Amino acid sequence: MTRTEKLLAELIALPSVNPAFAPGGASARPARKLYGEQAVADFLAATAAKAGLEIELQKVVLADGQQTEGHWRSNVIVRLRPRHQIKRTILLAPHLDTVGADDSRFLPQRKNGRLHGRGACDTKGSVAAMLTALCELAEARTRPLETEIIFAGLIDEEQAQAGSRALVAPAGCLGLAAGGQHGRDARATTLAIVGEPTKLQVVTAHKGSLWLQLETRGRAAHGATPHLGKNAVLEMARVVEVLETEYAAQLRRRKHPLLGTGTVNVGQISGGTQPNIVPDFCTIAIDRRTLPGETEAGVCREIAARLRAKKLTAAIFNSKLAPAPALETDSQLPLVQQFLRTVKQTRPVGVDYFCDAAILAAGGIPSVVFGPGDIAQAHTADEWISLAQLERGKNLLLHFLKSLS
Ligand SMILES: [Zn+2]
Repeated sequence: MTRTEKLLAELIALPSVNPAFAPGGASARPARKLYGEQAVADFLAATAAKAGLEIELQKVVLADGQQTEGHWRSNVIVRLRPRHQIKRTILLAPHLDTVGADDSRFLPQRKNGRLHGRGACDTKGSVAAMLTALCELAEARTRPLETEIIFAGLIDEEQAQAGSRALVAPAGCLGLAAGGQHGRDARATTLAIVGEPTKLQVVTAHKGSLWLQLETRGRAAHGATPHLGKNAVLEMARVVEVLETEYAAQLRRRKHPLLGTGTVNVGQISGGTQPNIVPDFCTIAIDRRTLPGETEAGVCREIAARLRAKKLTAAIFNSKLAPAPALETDSQLPLVQQFLRTVKQTRPVGVDYFCDAAILAAGGIPSVVFGPGDIAQAHTADEWISLAQLERGKNLLLHFLKSLS
């Protein structure tokens, strides 16, 4: 068994379900042995300490709605400083949380060259590959001369990305963002490699996600005299029709070279109270996957214009507190080019799903996504990772880190 596989098996056995997915949500306090990332953060800190690395826990949010010290959800920050002054920084940034699963999924199972269990590919596989690469580098005789390497295990990616948002916050512990540390230009001297199952492809672009709520208003009347009222459900039915046909077609005409097109999905609807009352309100919730450059204000404007052209009226609200922007990192940046060469990939790729990379990029750190495993197995009942790919991922990362002076 390789060191990477052993670490991954140990990580799968630890509780890690994002507390937002606990019955009753993050503020409830049921028996929650599977919930929270703290056990993972503590275990990684201990593992890194054994390899002689510097460790810091960055408190991000209070767990369980408790107000007491000692119940924080924390990012774990592991640092390898270079021998000389820091000239560039590589950030290895996988997330620590997972989606839910039944208890049996927290027992790692090895079968036919695969390791099964919750988080195997999303994203404890990346955690194991990245931390093992860093530990092996730290234990080698030759530390990098001028490259600082930081492993940042981030909480809460699966819900609100509180971990990555805290990492790049002005008061965050890195001081890397926007040309920050040592007055360097972050675009030229910093690269974040965000761990997600990309089948070891370097991903430089992904879509963003915007959740909008649309609301139509009508006028209530007796169900026996519907002509005296105005039916908000009927108005909304027409809105849905426009969104799913004309607006969806409009989005299909706007293409991004790596990402294809944006999408719209009407995912929820509710309206009215009972059959014999003309409904005076109706709401829908939509998920709009955005391309780089598309903003919330712009999306709201184009939807409103579409509806206006059809003489339809609906109020539009954002129903997600934190923005989830799209990612588009310039593949010509020197560190991105060097990483692409290490992986022997000629051109970068884009993916549909959203991750922490966009948050770090919005915070001023050029970011790519990379990790072992296939997103097709993420969030499924039988999650697994190829052990050969896991090991290859660790080797590629180590090779890249060693290629930096
Ligand atoms: Zn993930």
